[in-house]
Amino acid sequence: MPNFDAIIIGAGQSGPALTRRLVAAGRKVAIIERKLFGGTCVNTGCTPTKTLIASAYAAHVARRAADYGVRIEGPVSVDMKAVKTRKDAVVAVFRDGLERSLKTLQGCTVYQGHGQFIAERKLAVNGSELGADQIFINVGARAAIPPIPGLDQVPYLTNSSMMDVDFLPSHLVILGGSYIGLEFAQAYRRFGSEVTVIELGPRVISREDEDVSQAIAGFLKEEGIDVRVDSKIVGVEKQGNLIAATIESAGRISQIAGTHILIATGRRPNTDDLGLDRAGIATDRRGYIQVDDQLRTNIAGIWAMGDCNGRGAFTHTSWNDFEIVAANLLDNDQRRVSDRITAYALYTDPPLGRAGMTEAEVRKTGKPALISTMAMKDVMRAYERGETKGFMKILVDRDSKRILGASFLGLEGDEVIHCVLDIMYAKAPYTVIQRAMHIHPTVSEFIPTMLDQLKRLQ
Ligand SMILES: Cc1cc2nc3c(=O)[nH]c(=O)nc-3n(C[C@H](O)[C@H](O)[C@H](O)COP(=O)(O)OP(=O)(O)OC[C@H]3O[C@@H](n4cnc5c(N)ncnc54)[C@H](O)[C@@H]3O)c2cc1C
Repeated sequence: MPNFDAIIIGAGQSGPALTRRLVAAGRKVAIIERKLFGGTCVNTGCTPTKTLIASAYAAHVARRAADYGVRIEGPVSVDMKAVKTRKDAVVAVFRDGLERSLKTLQGCTVYQGHGQFIAERKLAVNGSELGADQIFINVGARAAIPPIPGLDQVPYLTNSSMMDVDFLPSHLVILGGSYIGLEFAQAYRRFGSEVTVIELGPRVISREDEDVSQAIAGFLKEEGIDVRVDSKIVGVEKQGNLIAATIESAGRISQIAGTHILIATGRRPNTDDLGLDRAGIATDRRGYIQVDDQLRTNIAGIWAMGDCNGRGAFTHTSWNDFEIVAANLLDNDQRRVSDRITAYALYTDPPLGRAGMTEAEVRKTGKPALISTMAMKDVMRAYERGETKGFMKILVDRDSKRILGASFLGLEGDEVIHCVLDIMYAKAPYTVIQRAMHIHPTVSEFIPTMLDQLKRLQ
């Protein structure tokens, strides 16, 4: 049985980076990948969706060209095969680069196959058994398929199979009005599909503040997306070439029939086929591996990183997990999950950049707080760019003067949010950024202005 110092299961966001660190520290490492190097982010998540969104944005701007004094003769059309080819090329750069770098890394053995525990420190892959003193699980997550009657009888798409789409669905029905569903909704609407979003909750993206949800739903509707909230899908069936979803909303039953249906109702961890019970590794009831603040599982010598530990669902949280594990193991630096501040983005256009607490969360703390908001139509840079949708909101602790959270829904919101995030990491008072001289004309120049206009949170 080949024995390693460390085995990493899954070549997602944290596994390969940790592999490189361990190898550089002189350890003999094996990494097991069952499918595509780079995992979700590179192959079916961030990279391909943001590449598709860039094509959709180009189509959108082209249609609005006249607003900028630019004439395009004839209607704007989208070549979906070319859009997919571009997306595949971008993905291939990252996936192939990673695969090559791991396979040529001295001290690292790559196994391509499904890894499973057969005992505490033993794994099986492709019929071979491997052992190691340390095992790092980085197996990610996949689309959760809800138990809707009839769903197993119709063809449906997930974020993974969407990656093979090289045609324009004439009517895309999306189940789930959260981050993944909304990004696909806007992109496909801009490609030219009719799009319906069906959301069970009372508003889209319900983890965000109500004003943020309403603003996002507003601009999606303006683009012609049919957004249905408070809508429960009670059944799905094939009707000729269409797929019909039966919806119950406020006690009334109706049907929506589309040509294609995309399931975007949440994620589930890839831990059900990992043999965790044979190693005695504890999970919660949803299958997420339970870890402590340094990402150790309940079994000594076994760690879990990335989406499968339920402590984050983003590429940057998975990467940060790698940094935490590497710092503790190799640098005698006791970094912890609880050191990090919530941060993420929604890549609609305009995007939403988020840091720290929402307004609703701040209210729940009951602490005295200050708030400032600014409409993007009052931001010169947004005006100049002709992209004035959305607003920015910052919340501050009245006593400590620390920034508690921010939601920037507007032009470059995903970038601008980092001004705030870094001040939060610095544990500095908001006055530091309030007094900073920012560059004109930018969106960020209005953050000091917003901080000049803080008011009591009522
Ligand atoms: C549509 C979509 C868009 C997204 N957009 C963003 C975004 O813009 N920004 C962002 O931060 N996050 C985004 N995410 C989330 C992000 O992709 C994930 O949080 C991130 O990829 C998780 O990385 P990971 O390291 O946990 O695992 P993954 O990247 O999922 O990698 C896990 C790897 O393990 C392999 N594996 C699983 N089981 C086994 C096994 N038993 N044996 C061997 N190999 C195995 C898998 O094949 C996979 O390659 C998006 C997700 C989706 C679905």
